[in-house]
Amino acid sequence: MSVQDQLHRYLFENAAVRGELVNVTQTWRDVLKTHDYPAPVQQLLGEMLVATSLLTATLKFDGDITVQLQGDGPLSLAVINGNNRQELRGVARVQGDIAPESSLKSMVGNGYLVITIAPEKGERYQGVVGLEGETLAECLEDYFMRSEQLPTRLFIRTSDKGAAGILLQVLPAQETSKEDFNHLATLTETVKAEELIELPANEVLWRLYHQEEATVYDPQPVMFKCTCSRERCGEVLKTLPQAEVDDIIEEDGEIDMHCDYCGTHYVYDAVDIAAIRNASVSSGDDRLH
Ligand SMILES: [Zn+2]
Repeated sequence: MSVQDQLHRYLFENAAVRGELVNVTQTWRDVLKTHDYPAPVQQLLGEMLVATSLLTATLKFDGDITVQLQGDGPLSLAVINGNNRQELRGVARVQGDIAPESSLKSMVGNGYLVITIAPEKGERYQGVVGLEGETLAECLEDYFMRSEQLPTRLFIRTSDKGAAGILLQVLPAQETSKEDFNHLATLTETVKAEELIELPANEVLWRLYHQEEATVYDPQPVMFKCTCSRERCGEVLKTLPQAEVDDIIEEDGEIDMHCDYCGTHYVYDAVDIAAIRNASVSSGDDRLH
């Protein structure tokens, strides 16, 4: 039986704690399908997809979150971007050998976890934490403690069958005893990868919390979706040195830009380039206001 990519939110009645459970199995496959990453990178991207989905689900506004790992190791960059509609995409850049079973630290090296929260209206916020934890989940728990002072636990599971996870978080500005939160975390920790990934969410929630009072809300679909477009790619093209672009046009007759996230190619010829440059001149005034 296949389990759909969905996000479930739930709330415990007797403790001011909320939960989220997400399955991103198909989304993960879609992210991987245009790339040939080493197995540990594939797994890390699965974990990051789970985490980004869970994080975007905590947003109180329309916007998106980018979770990024960067460092001096063979995995120089891994990034997942997701929004409140639960549309996710991601990419990794591998610049050296990555052995099977590599740990987070051995892949990223000396590095950081960078979380960028970008509301559709309002200021962007960026939080940076060093990679103190052994796992992505630990690093994110650390981030929540430092940036929001909110006790948060993440339980992320991946296997060759898929990727899924659970987030538990104390509700802001409410009294929750440490014991209550730890009790729920202890229950959640028992979840096995095959349960979380392969069983329907309601079944998992019942197995974990049937002795608790929990309200489960209607699920939200989760999917792979790239936000690239010919227009946005043209914006990037404008930032390249003109002489370089002209050289390529002269030599090849066209310039082929491709989206790292989804692999879509956008091809521009001399006429297209001229149109992009003209558009940027005529709209230049508008941007000053
Ligand atoms: Zn794309």
